[in-house]
Amino acid sequence: MILVLLGPPGVGKGTQGARIAVHYDVPTISTGAIFREAVARGTELGRIIQRVKIDQGEFVPDEIVVKAVRERTSEHDCDTGYLLDGFPRTVPQAEALEAMLSEKKLRLTAAIEFNAPIDQIISRFSGRRVCPVDGATYHIENQPPNHAGLCDICNSQLTTRADDAPDIVRKRMQVFAEKTAPLLEYYSIQGLLYEIDASAEPETVFGQVVTVLDGLK
Ligand code: AMP
Repeated sequence: MILVLLGPPGVGKGTQGARIAVHYDVPTISTGAIFREAVARGTELGRIIQRVKIDQGEFVPDEIVVKAVRERTSEHDCDTGYLLDGFPRTVPQAEALEAMLSEKKLRLTAAIEFNAPIDQIISRFSGRRVCPVDGATYHIENQPPNHAGLCDICNSQLTTRADDAPDIVRKRMQVFAEKTAPLLEYYSIQGLLYEIDASAEPETVFGQVVTVLDGLK
């Protein structure tokens, strides 16, 4: 199973991606998490990313993103499939993914589009917390960690994302509308797009996802 998760920033792709990954036993590949981790670790990729100002909502150039995804999806845990969260984000990235898959004689299973009213999305940002070490995502009300402020997986102190500040969120929404929304048509034309109402509780949203994915088997 190879899935693309689509939808505006803050709609719940990270939360749903984590659930899908556990339920179907496939890894989640989040390009945003890969970049944040690279910056935190000060790797060569991290130094390149730092120049792009991702914490201001700027996009990383397509060729760098595509290379990172190519490398990550070549690891063995991806042999039976994976979820892509935050990639592709532009039509050229989607074309690069298609080329990458067809080289390996693989095909995308589905693109899942998560939708929610904009006001609800904006209010979700203020409660979002992330683990700087493993990228796990929480929400102080909707999806709290077991111990307040600490990651369930590695016990690190949770932080807020610099790019969740309200003015940067507005910019990210604009960039989504300009560059990423065209992907919905791209996948719809191919008959690969499945729409999910992400305004409900995470459990209910996940139920919709499972119905769609089990229907594809
Ligand atoms: P995310 O965690 O998916 O919201 O990504 C955080 C930031 O990383 C984005 O605002 C971009 O600056 C950068 N980024 C992540 N994925 C991509 C991508 N596929 N293309 C370009 N930039 C990306």
